[in-house]
Amino acid sequence: MRFGAMDNVERGRALHGVRVAVPAGDDGHALLWFAYCPNCQATVNTDRDFIADCWSCGRPLPKRFNSRMELRVEWVLYEDILLGRHHADEWYCNYCGTANPMSNPICSKCKRSKHSTGS
Ligand SMILES: [Zn+2]
Ligand SMILES: [Zn+2]
Repeated sequence: MRFGAMDNVERGRALHGVRVAVPAGDDGHALLWFAYCPNCQATVNTDRDFIADCWSCGRPLPKRFNSRMELRVEWVLYEDILLGRHHADEWYCNYCGTANPMSNPICSKCKRSKHSTGS
């Protein structure tokens, strides 16, 4: 499962470039889903196959969660942000859902990279 997710991420990058999740504008929004790890209560991305193990406690995550929270985002090419073609003040961490200042290369909570899109 884990390698399959990585393959999908690599394929996506090759096709669409590296993207960053930013707060949704009026159009082009997508949903990210998060839930609490049943073991340590950390907020974790619940998209199927995104992360197999909790980023905080390292325990395997369940296949299904009782309740989930949605986060409305827009996927923006990182290159467009670097070149100033798209302005965003914050980016959302794919692992834990924390909003970080765009200048932060690493999530303030789980320490994952801004560019990380899977385990
Ligand atoms: Zn955990
Ligand atoms: Zn994070």
